[in-house]
This record gives sequence, C-alpha cells and structure tokens, in this order.
Amino acid sequence: MTELNTVRADLWDIAVALYKTSLVSPDDIRRWDRHAAAFASHELNGNVFVIGVADQYAADFYSSLYSEPLRIALVKAGAAADVTVKFLVTDEARLAEERKREEENRAILGDTQRIKLKQSHFNSTIPLNANYTFENFVKGPSNSFACAIAEAIAKEPGGNTNNPFFIWGGAGLGKTHLMQAIGHHVIRHDQSKSVCYITSETFLNEYITAISNKALDAFRKRYRHIDLLLLDDVQFVGGKVQFQEEFFNTYNDLMTYGKQVVMTCDVPPKKLNSFEERLISRFQQGIVIEIESPSYETRVAILKSKARKFPHRIPEEILTYIGENIHSSVRAMEGALTLVMRYMEANPSVQITQQIAHVLLKELTEDEVTIRRLSVEEIIKAVCGTYGLSYGDILTTNRSQPLSTARQVAMFLARKLTGLSLEVVADGFKRNHTTILHGSQAIQKRIDVEPELKKTIESIAEHLGRKPSEIII
Ligand code: ADP
Ligand code: MG
Repeated sequence: MTELNTVRADLWDIAVALYKTSLVSPDDIRRWDRHAAAFASHELNGNVFVIGVADQYAADFYSSLYSEPLRIALVKAGAAADVTVKFLVTDEARLAEERKREEENRAILGDTQRIKLKQSHFNSTIPLNANYTFENFVKGPSNSFACAIAEAIAKEPGGNTNNPFFIWGGAGLGKTHLMQAIGHHVIRHDQSKSVCYITSETFLNEYITAISNKALDAFRKRYRHIDLLLLDDVQFVGGKVQFQEEFFNTYNDLMTYGKQVVMTCDVPPKKLNSFEERLISRFQQGIVIEIESPSYETRVAILKSKARKFPHRIPEEILTYIGENIHSSVRAMEGALTLVMRYMEANPSVQITQQIAHVLLKELTEDEVTIRRLSVEEIIKAVCGTYGLSYGDILTTNRSQPLSTARQVAMFLARKLTGLSLEVVADGFKRNHTTILHGSQAIQKRIDVEPELKKTIESIAEHLGRKPSEIII
C-alpha cells in the first residue's frame, strides 16, 4: 500500500472513531454499525469523500443521516476543510448486496419454517428511515387525501378497498415518506407482520440475479410470504417483459392471500407506457392518489416542523423566505434549510437575515422554475373569455351547461396553476373546499375521455402563459 493510501485508510478509521464517540446511546452505536456494514467502499476523490452503496434509495437514506456528521468528523480527522461526503451507487456495492441476498435466498429454500422467513425479510430489506413516520408528516391539502388512506391502511393492512394503494406525484413530494410511515406503523403494532420495503430497481436486480443463478423458487418464496409490500418507484421496471410476467404473478398471489401492496410512481398508472395493459389495470383496481406540490401554507408548516428539531431558533422570516422561493419539492426545501442551519452553526454570532439567505440559497432558488404565480381571478377571467361567460356567471350556483363545466374547468386550473391552498382557492370561488376538490376531480376524469375538453383546457393554459404539460398528466 502506498503512503497515500495508508493516509486515506487512516482518515476514514479516525473519522469513524470520532463520529462514534459523538454517539451517546448504545442504540445509536448499534444502528451506526448496522448501517456502516452496508458501505461497500469509501475513498477520497479530490475533495469528495465517496461512499459506495447498493442502490439510490440507500444513497439518499444514508446521505440524509450521515453526510453532514461524517463531513464534520472527516475534517476533525484531518481532511481538507472543504471536503464533502457523497453516497453513490457503485457496481461493487450492488454485487455485494446481491451476493448477500442470494445467500439468504438459499437459506430460505432450505428452511420452510415461516417464522424464519419472516425474520429474513426484516433483516434483508433496507431499514426504514426512522424519520419517515406519520408523526413527522405534515398534512396539507396537497397530501391529506393520500395521508388519510395511508393511515387507514396502516391500521388495517390487506383490506379490499385500498388495495393496492398507488401513490403518484413529482420528485421530493413525500411519496417514500408516506409509504414508509405505513411500514413503521404496521411493524410497531404487530411484530408478527412481515413488512418489505424495496425499490423496484432493487427488486428487478434481484430478479435478474435469481434467474441467472437458477434461484427463482427462492425469489418467489421470499416475496410471496410478505404481509405488506412497499414497492417504491415502480416506473423503473417498465419495458422488461419477462419481469412484468413475474411481477404480475407475485402481485396476484399477494392479492389473493389478502396481503397489502403499496406502490409509488412518478406518473399515474395510465401513463406507464412501457407497462403491459393487464398490470396497469391491476394497479388501478385499488386506489390511485396523487400527491401534489404543497401550497405555500403547507411549505411553511413543513419548514417549521423541521426547524423545531434544530437547536438554534431560525427566524420566522427566513422560513417564509424559503417557503416563498422554493416550491418544487420538499426535498429542495430541506436542502435550503440545511444550508441555513449550517450557516448559523458556523457563524453563531451573526444574525441571519433575508439578504444572507438570499445569497446562501442563490443556487437553489435559481434551480426553481421561475413561473409567475397566477391568481384565481386571472384564471376565472381566462375561462370566462373562452366560454363567453361573465365573471358573475362563474360565481353563481347555476348548474346548467356549459356553465357548470366552465366553472369546474376554472376550479381545476386554479388548483393546478396557482400553488394556493385549497381553502384560498375556495375563497376565490366563494365555495367550500369540497366543492373545489369535487369540481377539479370531475375535470381530471373527463380529460381522459374527452379530447375536445382537453384541448380547450390546454389552450386556456397556453393563453395564461403556461405549458399544457403542467396541467395534463
Ligand atoms: P418522494 O419519494 O416523493 O421523492 P420523499 O418521500 O423522499 O419524496 O420526500 C423528500 C423529503 O421531504 C423527505 O425528507 C421527507 O421527509 C420530506 N417530506 C416530504 N413531504 C413531507 C411532509 N408532508 N411533511 C414532512 N416532510 C416531508
Ligand atoms: Mg421516493
């Protein structure tokens, strides 16, 4: 080993030792040891310390837990002050994980005792993120429906009505969080239940390995004995015909035996173009719910709830500044909050101001698509223009056609394009929020079967300076 390598190896060992001394409870130390066993490699590349893990979920998961504390420990251990820590998916880590799974599969094949099977599910799946619980999930109009269903499933997994539960929505909006919250709740209340959280990417990799090792039986057994299957990001497995066949069978088995399946995806089932029709129709048999971008009020509520865990008080104006300027995803908001916290920790004597936050978050806010916020009023006016109605017509309760459709179209567009909370939108229409929800859902359904209506809505959006892709999914 060259001297340089020795230094690098030492750096990691010293950093880990330092980090571990900062852990107080034996549980925390055990948790670290368990997690660190999944780090397949670690090396310093320039000023980036790269830790190799098996899949993207693991990378995100470990990164949220350890990037910052490990960075601090590495600096203390002698790394450059600007070192950063990154968890990346490497082939090496992926292969190691597959080998481990394979061994477990062999053990399962040789042992039919159900209890053993269950234990192996717990151990073999990536641990659930301890923060992804219902208690830590902030509800708002954008996610309250999805959250209510998730809570109902958590209390009684495997019922007929909400099975499968298909959650879809853009990146960083809380799909994985909500899905894992179900898992936490089930495990906490019934230790005998076997819960499996897996990304569809890993599921697919395992399947491929099982085929090449002629170990399909074990693979099937493993999945068919699960009580609650949490399959994250199903969009990844489209296009693989043989896999879809297998997945279809596993899925049918789970359903037949009354097991609960929860899936997440970045598009609704009908937009899964590379999926077979029969799978798509299965996905739609239970309940399909979208998580939307949070409104301003929910964004600030989420920021406040995350800021409470930080030992220093973050001024309210900074939280509202983040809420106003970052709206694409909760993950991006968390990134902004972390930058602010880091700044406050490094400069304890400086009072953080909006100006400082502005500079600090420049890069993040530039990433946000700068779209002009539309008001409910502007939307109602545009709809009136298209349908030849007056503003007052929209606000009446007259249900004749085409007035009723025009009103619902305006509600639908207001939900999609203003970023305002349901309550505020409802105020704009002088209605209650259930009417708005009902109206926009009615249009969402009609768009799929009425191409003319779809075209009209797209042209109103364009007229308002927005892209049709923002509203029609
Ligand atoms: P997705 O799976 O939709 O890409 P995640 O579930 O990974 O998004 O969420 C991204 C981050 O935002 C996570 O840290 C999660 O805890 C947080 N988050 C998302 N929605 C909420 C919410 N409603 N309340 C609290 N935290 C949230
Ligand atoms: Mg996710």
